[in-house]
Amino acid sequence: ATPTALTVATDTLARMGVLITRGHAIEALAGANRYVFDKTGTLTHGRMQVDGVRVLDNSDEAGVRALAGALEQASEHAIAAGVRLAADGLDLPAVEELRSVTGQGVEGRVDGRLLRIGRPPFVAELAGAPVPDAVAELEADGATVVALGGESGWIALFRLADSVREDAPDLFARLAREGIPTAILSGDSPAAVQAIAQGVGAGEAHAAMTPQDKQAWVESRQREPGALVAMLGDGVNDAPVLAQAHVSVAMGGGTDLARNQADVVLLSESLEGLSRAIGLSRRTLAVVR
Ligand code: ADP
Ligand code: MG
Repeated sequence: ATPTALTVATDTLARMGVLITRGHAIEALAGANRYVFDKTGTLTHGRMQVDGVRVLDNSDEAGVRALAGALEQASEHAIAAGVRLAADGLDLPAVEELRSVTGQGVEGRVDGRLLRIGRPPFVAELAGAPVPDAVAELEADGATVVALGGESGWIALFRLADSVREDAPDLFARLAREGIPTAILSGDSPAAVQAIAQGVGAGEAHAAMTPQDKQAWVESRQREPGALVAMLGDGVNDAPVLAQAHVSVAMGGGTDLARNQADVVLLSESLEGLSRAIGLSRRTLAVVR
């Protein structure tokens, strides 16, 4: 494509809410032959809401919500926003040594007690007890379940609901028609990831992945001859895999880290916008499919 054609395409895409931040992005979107997606905040709206709390010790529910909300002040994750909302109006206890662990959860000390909220296995490490059966029960229909616990054991489980972006199935259908493999890589549990994968029609889906697992997975696919991998993500946890992919796409509402890292930013948060960007990129480069 001529420089003029690329400029015209960049301007057209900007008007559609698709921001091209790096020169190679249009060419790479046109040629990408594998699309990989994060789940939470990328294929889902990422507006997580707590729709159930199960207290596992003798705490009262308001106290448990306040504890969780206090810990989640450390995180930019969609889950954190949902948990903080569930503590709205409550007095939050002071937290010391607060730190967020990307792709796992948050840790902090309240009244001298070390606590964690996050993936049940992450909390299990601190609680020194196996993950309660109630986790699988609450996950049954694809909800995300996070645990709260401390050195003295489990405190509570939070069930969070999110919704799939309406335009996701069309994007997957389009890629499938073109014979382009698709995959979801998520840090969430298998049940939650399977539910979304079925809902959108993803080719394959992998759960319980750390940010490094996601990066390694993409890297291994990139070793296949001729592979050109596009990655979509929104969170801090996606930064390494976005950097690894040939072309990276971030959701406009995602974290600064994801947006600054990405070659393309979907300002309008529209997956249909991405689909149109792929089409326009190919026409610009006269890539016939
Ligand atoms: P995804 O790949 O679906 O975007 P992440 O890698 O961001 O998921 O997170 C993986 C899992 O880690 C979440 O499903 C959740 O169990 C846990 N987690 C991450 N951040 C937080 C947080 N701030 N609070 C609670 N749990 C968290
Ligand atoms: Mg995410």
